[in-house]
Amino acid sequence: MHDAVVIGGGPVGSKVASLLAADHDVLVIEEHPVPGRPVQCAGLISEEAVRLSGVRPTVLNRLYGANITFPDGRTISVRSREHKAVLIDRAELDGMMAQKAADDGAKHLYSTRYVSHAVHGDTVHITTDAGNVSSSMLVGADGHNSKVAATMPDNAPAEYVRGIQADVRRRADDDGMINIHVGSETAPGFFAWEIPFGDMTRIGLCTSWAAGPPSAYLNALLKRTGVKDEEIVSKSCGRIPLGGRRRTYGDHMLLAGDAACHVKPISGGGLQPAFRSAYALAETVTEAFDENNRSEKFLSVYEKRWKRDVGRELKRGYRLRKMFVSMSDAELNKAAKTIDKESIREMLNGGDIDHPSDLMLRMLRHPIIMMRLAPLMLRAGVRGML
Ligand SMILES: Cc1cc2nc3c(=O)[nH]c(=O)nc-3n(C[C@H](O)[C@H](O)[C@H](O)COP(=O)(O)OP(=O)(O)OC[C@H]3O[C@@H](n4cnc5c(N)ncnc54)[C@H](O)[C@@H]3O)c2cc1C
Repeated sequence: MHDAVVIGGGPVGSKVASLLAADHDVLVIEEHPVPGRPVQCAGLISEEAVRLSGVRPTVLNRLYGANITFPDGRTISVRSREHKAVLIDRAELDGMMAQKAADDGAKHLYSTRYVSHAVHGDTVHITTDAGNVSSSMLVGADGHNSKVAATMPDNAPAEYVRGIQADVRRRADDDGMINIHVGSETAPGFFAWEIPFGDMTRIGLCTSWAAGPPSAYLNALLKRTGVKDEEIVSKSCGRIPLGGRRRTYGDHMLLAGDAACHVKPISGGGLQPAFRSAYALAETVTEAFDENNRSEKFLSVYEKRWKRDVGRELKRGYRLRKMFVSMSDAELNKAAKTIDKESIREMLNGGDIDHPSDLMLRMLRHPIIMMRLAPLMLRAGVRGML
């Protein structure tokens, strides 16, 4: 019997496995034959996320700022002296993190799919499509469509957005800047991105569920930017869970990463909050073994721990996202016109990709923005956050 079985050998499953393997017998079950494929990520992360990963992935590019284009064509540019994010190759990151987990002592079962589990006494009996295994603890790190999370009633994420992107053979004019586009015609309910790296640009977008499949929006964006079919090297797509799950712990069970909905709602970035929360998970599991108590009640402290650390960003971010999705194109244009003044634009430079809600709230508190966007803030119910 294993101490812990981690379902999902993605970056978060590997991070959890690395941390737990120091003191425990850990098995990772991954449905694919290798980690990191298919890729479902733009690969844009902060230096902190790189450090938390515990490995050193190749940095494809360093990004210093963004050109944000609004529905009426107005573009607001912000650029810092220091880089704000790095672009990494997600398949490489996942592979390196899985190798680190193995080096730290975790065992892996690839090409094996978790089907279900049942807790009898102090043992978790896990059924996979390749046989049964048992453990004292189960960790669901099985991504946005988590089967482990679904074993708890009413536990779906508040919302999903759908993403799609293409790597295009095209060199950007300014290699240090990301182009962001907002508006209902480009990316309803989210935003589109163009991230340069060398001779290539990663062009993608997410849309809210109600907008239907995002492929039509990507095709339109590629056409608008003059990309020809022969320039497209690869395409990938995926879903991002937003707004939290009802519960991230259960009897002998904890959830991590996308399975726990640990994703920043404003940007869709999941790696930094999930890596941070992995430490809360490891601390909780260690205590559960020390106290020989893996009951739901005992494990509930995990949720308190990760909320204390990243919960504020996830909760505030989701409320601000609701304000964003409630805005019409005309309101987005009005907001852009208001922001596009030097004193306010400068505030954008103080942003940090791991805490986007801090920046948004600082901006909403600016007297000019408060005055001009008051009706919108009232309607969206964010005045109380200011
Ligand atoms: C288009 C797009 C762009 C994104 N861009 C960024 C970005 O730039 N920066 C960022 O930080 N985040 C980004 N994200 C989010 C990020 O990709 C996720 O938050 C991250 O992958 C979560 O890691 P994870 O390990 O929790 O889940 P995953 O990476 O999904 O890994 C889960 C693993 O579990 C496996 N699995 C699932 N079910 C089972 C089962 N039943 N049995 C066995 N194995 C199973 C899966 O095969 C997978 O390998 C993006 C997401 C999308 C869709």
